[in-house]
Amino acid sequence: ATNPEFISLAGGLPAESSFPMQKLLDATSSVLKGPGALQYSITEGEPELRQWIANHLGAEITQILVTNGAQQAMDLVTRTLIRPGDTVVVEAPTYLGALQIFDLAQASIVTIDQTPVGPNLKQLESAFQQQPVLFYAVPDFHNPTGCCWPENTRREVIALAKKYKVTIMEDAPYRELRYSGTTLPSLYELAPEQVCHVGSFSKIAAPGLRLGYLCTGKDLLMDISLVKQATDLHSSTLCQRFLLACLQEPYYSDHLDELRDEYRRRRDTLVKTLQYYLGDKVYFSIPDGGMFLWLTLAKGKTDRLADACLDNNIAIVPGSVFYPEETSKARDKMRLNFTHLGPTLLTEGVKRLAAVIDTL
Ligand code: PMP
Repeated sequence: ATNPEFISLAGGLPAESSFPMQKLLDATSSVLKGPGALQYSITEGEPELRQWIANHLGAEITQILVTNGAQQAMDLVTRTLIRPGDTVVVEAPTYLGALQIFDLAQASIVTIDQTPVGPNLKQLESAFQQQPVLFYAVPDFHNPTGCCWPENTRREVIALAKKYKVTIMEDAPYRELRYSGTTLPSLYELAPEQVCHVGSFSKIAAPGLRLGYLCTGKDLLMDISLVKQATDLHSSTLCQRFLLACLQEPYYSDHLDELRDEYRRRRDTLVKTLQYYLGDKVYFSIPDGGMFLWLTLAKGKTDRLADACLDNNIAIVPGSVFYPEETSKARDKMRLNFTHLGPTLLTEGVKRLAAVIDTL
């Protein structure tokens, strides 16, 4: 990836140009000179940031823990709730980073199929009958598929979780990145007592700040905060205060509007160029948000394609990495990112991909 000739449609990276650089530069002096900026601080996070998150979610400040990205929030929930051998249910395909966390915790992972409208509910009910501790879900613009569960799926999943008393870990880093359609209630909004809701500032501010959060019931949050305390004491005070500068209005709303406009354009560019250069050699549905297109290759296998792409200075992610075990379901699937590159490189990337597919 250090080769300048290389085009990567593989990673889940935001656009560099979207980072709030000027805002951070403007805030530098006041953040550094602020009281306690360089001192140890409290585990749960900067009160002002926790309050912002609580308001954003319609929760109480005592329900909010600031973490080092969504990744740490998920790790802390898992470390607190899961003992080796406990069962975690996930959709397949699913986010690779979540699978890594569950593996580290020595959880037993049970997969259910994802349909175009979310988890297969029959399979979910059978999985819930085995009394898992956790169901890991990404209802808004799934990674890798882009799937967004419609409202009735959300309500049915909540009904099942209540019936079988299963906690849901709702991972929502892409929730704000909607380019079409209307916002749907989060699982947390539908059943706060049933859900550990995980959010991230990586996709809407900058991943280098490494900030995300957990929102859940007060008592569980206290237990999880103790695990965070033992892990790293607290998230960086400086980063939290820099982030707060970016969350001021009207800057924040304007920034989000611009980001969505840009990503919508990039999504549409990728869709159009794929249709133009690849026609019926791939098929996909167009996601209403997020960062990814999930493609099915009409002929051939994507593991082979991904290798051949590397030889031609282009990177894609083959579907197999998003499944915990080997499966033929992944064979013809691949994920492409549309947020990192601008229109020129996206188009060049698709041209190269089309040339490689022709050689298979
Ligand atoms: N969940 C999902 C579904 C993701 O795609 C990612 C990052 N790619 C994360 C969590 C981790 O996000 P963060 O940078 O906030 O740790």
